[in-house]
Amino acid sequence: MPDPVFRPVTLHKDGEERLVIIWSDGHRSQYAWTHLRKECPCAGCREERLQPVDPFRILKPTELAPLKPVALTPVGHYAYKIVWSDGHDSGLFTLEHLRALCQCDDCGQAKK
Ligand SMILES: [Zn+2]
Ligand SMILES: [Zn+2]
Repeated sequence: MPDPVFRPVTLHKDGEERLVIIWSDGHRSQYAWTHLRKECPCAGCREERLQPVDPFRILKPTELAPLKPVALTPVGHYAYKIVWSDGHDSGLFTLEHLRALCQCDDCGQAKK
């Protein structure tokens, strides 16, 4: 696998709501945690997103409590794993994926 062009220089939590990543090219990315969870690339979440919404489904207690990340750990040199407060830990976010998910004003505008 070739090296990704951009690398995170720093990652930090911005309050309880979001993650900020400063990249090697100086770009400052912002992400709401809910956005990252919604975009979780693991097989389980992908499958869940493909299911039609069941109006009679009862929300699990973990879905009612606000989800929080408990850990963000680097995996090799190319990805980060997010562990969530509901115990979900199979989501691997590659650097490319994270960069593509950026919600900063610049990237938000670029997508329009
Ligand atoms: Zn997942
Ligand atoms: Zn951006």
